[in-house]
Amino acid sequence: MSPPKKKPAAAKSLRTADKLARLGLATDMSLVLHLPMRYEDETQIVPLDEAGLMHGQTVQVEAIVTACDVQYRPRRQLVVTISAAGAELTLRFLNFYGSQATQMAVGKRLRVRGEIRHGFFGNEMVHPAVKAVEEGAPLPQALTPVYPAGEGLSQTLLRKAIAAAMTRIDWRDTLPDTMLEKFGYLQFEQAVRLLHNPPADVDEYALAERSHPAWTRMKFDELLAQQLSMKRAQAARRQQGAPVLSAQGQLSQALSAALPFALTAAQQRVLAEIRSDLCASYPMQRLLQGDVGSGKTIVAALAAAQAIDSGYQAALMAPTEILAEQHFRKIAALMEPLGVDVAWLTGSLKKSEKEKARARIESGHAQLVIGTHALIQDDVSFQRLGLIIVDEQHRFGVAQRLTLRNKGLDQVPHQLMMSATPIPRTLAMTYFADLEVSVIDELPPGRTPVLTRLIAQERRDEVIERVHAAAAEGKQVYWVCPLIEESEALQLQTATETHALLTATLPELRIGLVHGRLRTQEKQQVMDAFVSGELQLLVATTVIEVGVDVPNASLMVIEHAERFGLSQLHQLRGRVGRGAAASVCLLLYQGPLGMVAKQRLAIMRETCDGFDIARRDLEIRGPGEFLGARQSGQAMLRFANLETDQWLVEQARDLAQQLLMHHPDIANAHLSRWLGSREDFLRV
Ligand code: ADP
Ligand code: MG
Repeated sequence: MSPPKKKPAAAKSLRTADKLARLGLATDMSLVLHLPMRYEDETQIVPLDEAGLMHGQTVQVEAIVTACDVQYRPRRQLVVTISAAGAELTLRFLNFYGSQATQMAVGKRLRVRGEIRHGFFGNEMVHPAVKAVEEGAPLPQALTPVYPAGEGLSQTLLRKAIAAAMTRIDWRDTLPDTMLEKFGYLQFEQAVRLLHNPPADVDEYALAERSHPAWTRMKFDELLAQQLSMKRAQAARRQQGAPVLSAQGQLSQALSAALPFALTAAQQRVLAEIRSDLCASYPMQRLLQGDVGSGKTIVAALAAAQAIDSGYQAALMAPTEILAEQHFRKIAALMEPLGVDVAWLTGSLKKSEKEKARARIESGHAQLVIGTHALIQDDVSFQRLGLIIVDEQHRFGVAQRLTLRNKGLDQVPHQLMMSATPIPRTLAMTYFADLEVSVIDELPPGRTPVLTRLIAQERRDEVIERVHAAAAEGKQVYWVCPLIEESEALQLQTATETHALLTATLPELRIGLVHGRLRTQEKQQVMDAFVSGELQLLVATTVIEVGVDVPNASLMVIEHAERFGLSQLHQLRGRVGRGAAASVCLLLYQGPLGMVAKQRLAIMRETCDGFDIARRDLEIRGPGEFLGARQSGQAMLRFANLETDQWLVEQARDLAQQLLMHHPDIANAHLSRWLGSREDFLRV
């Protein structure tokens, strides 16, 4: 074998390019838009004797090395002493290379930047940044940017790559001066250059807070690109064909007439919005938001009736078997007497039953299909699917929803997504900018707000006593077992143990247990027994979180409430307060609680309004966590902050609308600058 050759320079730079590409920095523009996360101020030197008084602060000093030794106690370290004007400073390096000792040899002049600490032997810095300099070496005129970096990418390399990219890009602004002046925004070039190289006298606080006008411009541009891309997607959808479901025929009328109640004004309003969407020849994509118990199901059923009246099939997909089955029973009970063929499809059906259901769906015999995500499996094909309804849409992945949308073959079915997790306005405007949103902002009459109490775990016995008393009065009770995120098995075990314990403590009560591992039939038996009143107390895991509707249940106990998300607690609590009786929710918590945990649980006590809860939850936790894992991997905004930049979101949305209508060329230029070939702002 020949000896290894020296790698050519090109190979080395290729590796750098690869590393940059891994950070998403494949193009010059993406490098230029890779903005610093913070800055280091190396523009000033603090005299050493003054620096000694600035404990806890990060400063830059310049001085001559007077000692440089490796010490072995208490552990191996390089200890360097520098002095200037009669003051001294000790530098400590616990991990060091031999070359560092040479760099910091006695007599060298060093520029040192780090945090001043008051050590046992006087002032010191641990692991400062050190540069050997000549006397009178000029100071940088700009703050030094620190960039988000990836593995193997040094700041030096990034700075060089970015500086080089800045010499090559087209700096022309995507927005005309007139618009910039109107909004009072900086020029793109001005903003970008400032952010990469802020002058020494810049308002550092505004930079750090990202409230500096240069940041404002970048955030606005980012939001504008996102809005444009969403609106484009929406426009593209309008180019697709969808069945026109205009008939509001017999079934719609018969169903309305058969309802045991009058629709609330809010239900009527959203129904009208949906009905008019269904009449369009492009696919509806509407999010129906309504607090827990606001009556979304019946709105969905009426929408389905319109599809069926027009000769199309409708599908209703729910995230859990319990919920799907409940929908099936309720809706079948309403629709079957009116002559509608309702099919039921979930993963747990027997093979033969599944095949039968599939055949009915394929032949078009089944007019309404209700089920779980089994509905979107490959082997299910619809004859003429006109409308897809997804309940609790946030529980499904984007991919799952897409698959169902593609079930409509050459025509794209209309899509109605329902959610009881209210998405605050700013989030809706950004992450759902391509959706129409309808809101049911009113509960049906006769509901009594749920009284919520926080109770420390130590008082569990009192709570059990209270459950006993409630059952004795003929009330039904839910006991929700703690969420154990790390282990489903452990969660199951806890539920089983709680059930055993409550059964032993309250032998005269009829107590059931329901959890995710039960077979559908077993689950249903337990739920049926609870619905019929045969069971007085239902011990449950979070499987009852969504949709379960037992009006006579008026007391709920939730253990380890501090482990739940607020929207989840709200959903759970929504299982009570569905009937006329005043309902109570007891949140058992394990103390001591931190500040944030206390604040969060207090919100539950103070309000029963899901939107209010979501808004306050957002304030406490921030949108990243609020959106949760389901959004991860999706384009999160890099610069804009949805909490503090709401006004920018609104401006971006309005301008996006204008640009698309009157200046498509500007919209194109802006999109290609910000997205390049990426379309990952796009949510589907
Ligand atoms: P959610 O919006 O949480 O899905 P549901 O659709 O399950 O709420 O409705 C909750 C309960 O309210 C159901 O029992 C339903 O029959 C009832 N309901 C729905 N609309 C009305 C109404 N307009 N008047 C009275 N009760 C209603
Ligand atoms: Mg529901």
